[in-house]
Amino acid sequence: MPELPEAETVRRGLETETVGRRISRVEVTGLRSVRRHPDPGEPDRRLRGQRVQAVGRVGKFLTLAAGPEVLVVHLGMSGQLLLSDGAGPRPPHSHVVVVFEDGSELRFVDPRTFGQVFLSAGPEPGRRGRPAELAHLGFDPLTDGLPAGRFAALLRSRRTMLKALLMDQRFVAGIGNIYSDEILFAARLRYDHPASALDEEQAKALYRHLLRILRASVRLGGSSLSDMQYRDVYGRPGRYQERHLVFAREGLACTGCGGPIRRQAWGGRSTFYCPGCQIPGPGPRRG
Ligand SMILES: [Zn+2]
Repeated sequence: MPELPEAETVRRGLETETVGRRISRVEVTGLRSVRRHPDPGEPDRRLRGQRVQAVGRVGKFLTLAAGPEVLVVHLGMSGQLLLSDGAGPRPPHSHVVVVFEDGSELRFVDPRTFGQVFLSAGPEPGRRGRPAELAHLGFDPLTDGLPAGRFAALLRSRRTMLKALLMDQRFVAGIGNIYSDEILFAARLRYDHPASALDEEQAKALYRHLLRILRASVRLGGSSLSDMQYRDVYGRPGRYQERHLVFAREGLACTGCGGPIRRQAWGGRSTFYCPGCQIPGPGPRRG
C-alpha cells in the first residue's frame, strides 16, 4: 500500500506534468472509485475547462487544485496515477481518466478499487486550506514542520503501542506498515513499546529517524514491493525497497546484530523487527 513517500513521489510527478494544463473532460467508468459522488458525472461537470494550478499532498492523500475545485485522490491498496500522451489503449482498471486539452491523459488505475477519487466540498476553515474531508488527519511530517519537542509531548501523552500510534492517521498522516517498521528499527524500539513509556530524548530521536527515513525514501522514489504495484506517474517503480532493513526480511540477518529478523502477526498484518536490537519497553507509565 502506498504510504507518504510513494504519494509524495506521485505528487512531484503530477506537479511537473499537469500544472498549467487545462482539463477538457473527465471520464468515469469505475463507479466504486468515485463512490463519494452519488452522481458519477459530477467530476466531469465541475472540472471541465478548469486549469490545474497546484498539486498538494496530506499524508497519503493527493490534491489537485483546478480553478475553484480540489480533486482529492487516495491510492488505496493498489491505485496508480499514470500519465499518458493519450495514444494507445488504456490499461485495464482505468476507472477515472482526466483528459487534458492537448489530448494527454491522467489515468487512475486501481485493480482492487480500495482507492478513491473525489471533489472536495470545500476547505477546512482555518487550517492551511486543507480539504474538509481531510480534516481528521494528523500532522504531515514533511509539510507541517512540527517541532521535535511538540512531537515528543504528543507522543508521550499516548498509551498506545508505538506501531499502532505511528500508523494512526489521526496522529500522524502518511505512515503505514512499511515505514513504521523501518522507523522503529532505526530507533531500536519494538512495535509494542508503549508510547507513554518513552522519555523525551527517545521520543525526539524517534522523530529524527521518522523524518530521515521518509525523506530518504522520497529521494529514491518510494518503495515498490514484490507485487510491483506501486509506480510513479511515468510507470517507474521506486527503489527504496533496496534499503529496507527489516520490512519483508523475515529470517535474514539483522544489519545491527546479525541475528534473524522476525515476523510477527499483528493487527491483521505482519510486523517485522529484530528481537536482539529492538526493546519492548517497561510498560505504561503510571499517572
Ligand atoms: Zn538486530
